[in-house]
Amino acid sequence: NTHRGILSRTMCSGQSECWISSYVLRQSCTESAASGVDCSKVQCLGRLGREFVESFLCRIVTLDPVMATFEDLNLIPSLQKAIVEEGYETPTPIQELTIPPALEGLDIRGCAQTGTGKTAAFALPILNHLASNNFKTVARRPLVLIIAPTRELAVQIGDSFANYGRHVEISHVLVYGGVSQEPQVKALEAGVHVLIATPGRLLDLMEQEFIFLNRLQVLVLDEADRMLDMGFQPELKRIIK
Ligand code: AMP
Repeated sequence: NTHRGILSRTMCSGQSECWISSYVLRQSCTESAASGVDCSKVQCLGRLGREFVESFLCRIVTLDPVMATFEDLNLIPSLQKAIVEEGYETPTPIQELTIPPALEGLDIRGCAQTGTGKTAAFALPILNHLASNNFKTVARRPLVLIIAPTRELAVQIGDSFANYGRHVEISHVLVYGGVSQEPQVKALEAGVHVLIATPGRLLDLMEQEFIFLNRLQVLVLDEADRMLDMGFQPELKRIIK
């Protein structure tokens, strides 16, 4: 399929692939010039902090965009339709590179500048997965959790899910601080596929047992570096634990 095509082409053109645990981050970065690993990506992962990623094993694959089309990405027709309606003609590089491996269920860390289509890069494969498997909602137990640093970003992500998901029956709920929790709790009670949350309110509602993560299949940390810069590391660690 397209993804394997991209991967094998990438390998053949001398790009590198490696598995990096938190313990070897520093070493990998030093060796990156020799090994061909993209050092900026390794450094970006390093910023998460050794403790934070201690239990994770991160796969770093350096890929080149090959100018795929949205048809190449094998998204379900109802998502393709929404993409056409949005007026998108071709996937951006971050979308082309992340959507195929995300559809295969691989863990991904994508780095790309603001405004380059990262939201669709994770929203489309998530919607594709949920809609094509026809998962049912359960009160208080989301299948997907997206954590974002600010209320504004959470709202934008919610809008993207509404836009891209307009032809599929996938629900999303927003949870953020600074407003009453009652409507958010009510929405969670009604059942939720995708929960989009800021760390503080999320933790608060988890501690009150309005949110349980035991059905979770997909976790997205949007603008993870910014969340860590903002000092959310303790909250993120507690949520992920
Ligand atoms: P984001 O980086 O996710 O905030 O997206 C930035 C802007 O790019 C948003 O206005 C999106 O609607 C738009 N966008 C995302 N993907 C594409 C695409 N493949 N083609 C054209 N515009 C896009």
